[in-house]
Amino acid sequence: MQGPDRTYVKIDLAAIRANMEAMHQNIAPGTKMAAVIKTDGYGHGAAAIAQALEPLPYLWGYCTATFEEARALREAGVEKPVLILGYTFPACYEEEARLGIRPAVFREDQLSALSDAAKKAGVTFPVHVAVDTGMSRIGITPDDRGLSFVKKALETPGIQVEGIFTHFAKADMLSPDPTMTQAQAFRHFTDRIEQELGYRVPIRHCDNSAGLIRFPENDMDLVRAGITLYGLWPSEEVPKDIVSLQPALSWYSRVVFVKDLPAGRAVSYGGTFVTDKTTRVATISVGYGDGYPRSLSNKGYVLIRGKRAPILGRICMDQLMADISDIPGAAEGDLVTLIGTDGSETITCEALGDLSGRFNYELVCDINPRVPRVYENGQDA
Ligand SMILES: *Cc1c(COP(=O)(O)O)cnc(C)c1O
Repeated sequence: MQGPDRTYVKIDLAAIRANMEAMHQNIAPGTKMAAVIKTDGYGHGAAAIAQALEPLPYLWGYCTATFEEARALREAGVEKPVLILGYTFPACYEEEARLGIRPAVFREDQLSALSDAAKKAGVTFPVHVAVDTGMSRIGITPDDRGLSFVKKALETPGIQVEGIFTHFAKADMLSPDPTMTQAQAFRHFTDRIEQELGYRVPIRHCDNSAGLIRFPENDMDLVRAGITLYGLWPSEEVPKDIVSLQPALSWYSRVVFVKDLPAGRAVSYGGTFVTDKTTRVATISVGYGDGYPRSLSNKGYVLIRGKRAPILGRICMDQLMADISDIPGAAEGDLVTLIGTDGSETITCEALGDLSGRFNYELVCDINPRVPRVYENGQDA
């Protein structure tokens, strides 16, 4: 077995807990939190994160994108509610009902299928209604038509409208106006449900990470914290001095081979880099098959012994080469930092995203499952 030596990701669970706490300080008093742990917790490991957060009294539960992600949490012993943020297919409803997993509803045909599943499972099925206030992705419209959908949902036997939510399209952009317009449309709609249908939906929620940092006035009953849970930023336009965050993820590999190449030697596929002098080259055991962006070929750098080692030539599937000519003593077996801090140098996800032309969310989601995740500070210190 390769073990964690070849390449591994380290997740600091204390940073995750500190980020939760920092966000909780900033949100409206009495508002609950949901931890968004879709795509295996943005690549950080959903089960480990849920287990670390589960005891927090202000944590309502978790959000995933798929039924399989939600069920995996149950299999890991996670007990709090799980909400699936996207569409779930009817074949999953009965098992969802049994497992206390909440689907998002917004299609008429879901209601009878959910009702049937509730009957078969012998439970009341809590659901969250998705409302489209400007994202144009999923959701009912916040108008008369949407209102009659909610009325129908309220009258459907076996289901309970536990929640209602909308999603902001521009909460991470400088101007607050589009977000305020969406929030207002959402609030107006939930008010209409209360006044015209006589029902106060218990859990109304709209804020994502950017929203909960910038607009606590929109927190309502619950906020959905995603990227900030991991200590990463929704965008450059979200001010960094409101909530203090610590990145939880760092990524490492190893120098597995060192050699000196004379001038005129081509490195890696296609020979896109050719040495112009004697060059000491380290081969490092990580590649795009691990999720390290191939677009960093001839462009990115890694950290070895606290110094930058530029990537030479094309990044391969499982290996890459870097120039260690200016790193005295660099040797086989050395630790290589791909994301994180080594000495006075730091490579952030945001910086690596910029350099590789990728979004920071995408970068962490794409770290391949074959890269072992190593957790530290799992116990409350
Ligand atoms: C992904 C997602 C979130 C979390 O977004 P962040 O920007 O990571 O906080 C919240 N709500 C919905 C509906 C989502 O799809």
